[in-house]
Amino acid sequence: MLVPSASDAAPIIELRGVEKFYGASRAVQTMDLSVRQGEFLALLGPSGCGKTTTLRMIAGFEAPTKGDILLHGRDIKADPPYRRPVNTVFQDYALFPHMTVAENVGFGLSVARRPRAEIKTRVTELLTMVGLGDKAGRSPAQLSGGQRQRVALARALARAPEVLLLDEPLSALDAHLRQQMQIELKQIQARLGLTFIIVTHDQSEALTLADRIVVMNHGVIAQIGTPAELYDSPASPFVARFLGAANLIPCRLAERRDHAVTLAIGGTSLSLDIAGGSVPATQNLLLCVRPERLLLLPEAKPGHSLPARVESRIFLGLVERLQLRLPDDTIVNLDLPHRGAMPPALGETIHLGFEPGTTRLFVAETNDDSG
Ligand code: ATP
Repeated sequence: MLVPSASDAAPIIELRGVEKFYGASRAVQTMDLSVRQGEFLALLGPSGCGKTTTLRMIAGFEAPTKGDILLHGRDIKADPPYRRPVNTVFQDYALFPHMTVAENVGFGLSVARRPRAEIKTRVTELLTMVGLGDKAGRSPAQLSGGQRQRVALARALARAPEVLLLDEPLSALDAHLRQQMQIELKQIQARLGLTFIIVTHDQSEALTLADRIVVMNHGVIAQIGTPAELYDSPASPFVARFLGAANLIPCRLAERRDHAVTLAIGGTSLSLDIAGGSVPATQNLLLCVRPERLLLLPEAKPGHSLPARVESRIFLGLVERLQLRLPDDTIVNLDLPHRGAMPPALGETIHLGFEPGTTRLFVAETNDDSG
């Protein structure tokens, strides 16, 4: 099947000025979000940031306190969940224990009084798709966690929803199975060309699955973008920390000329080219750089390198992570590929360089958790 690319598709779901209060506490603050037809969207953020509430409002299990939810441009706020062409896969699978796998998958179709032959064909097709063609007669108790989750997925797809919502669907699985299921989920979504919206607090899951990620914090969207956009161009220290490892080095702005800046880090001055994004006009800043963008220089380059002492070395498989102490006592991480030269010894002082155009500057916040 030829599936249009998600980036040029029309929005299927839009949230306009959506807010949700529980009593006096605001779970979701004014949210505007446009979900494209055929995309795999992840809602990512720490516990309590409002991800599940957002998903439940799209499903119709919760009503927004304010704002509109549109499907193909039509306000569906007043539609009950069963009237929406949307279905949800839950974390705990929610399978019917007394029914077989096939009966579970066909349940929604039976309730809708579809002909038996149609149900049988559809159930077989779905079970084959999720790799459980030979388990139709089993009861859920006779399946592994991963198999149960596949049944839940097949059941949620049975009535051909336009949008599938997934609420932490893989969190009960062990790490290995979880990775395998992430790949399967992504393949199924791509094959069906359906819109999937997943809630997760696991950054690697969001990076693996999603075409775009919505990073949320305290009920607010902190940033929306493709995994690469968020990783390479985080909009705030919060996003930088939440997606991947980030060094955030406190510094002061000494001089600026477009994207060329001179910073004071402790007593050392450092001149850098800053990647996209503006240079904040304040003095107290955070210099953001990914561990793999830091360089070990063979010698000091006055004005362009920092002395740093090797505090520890951590083996991470693909790379070795050096923890380095800067003169102002800030600890930074530098990732060295294994095939490089001999790593420096513990206690050694090295010269730290910055890959040009890979650093960003943020305003130093008193609470940089604010998104
Ligand atoms: P988690 O990853 O822990 O599930 P989340 O990001 O999905 O978190 P939500 O479950 O959407 O967050 O909750 C957002 C906020 O709303 C939290 O402060 C939560 O305590 C509150 N909340 C959620 N559901 C209710 C409810 N039914 N009644 C009152 N408060 C609620």
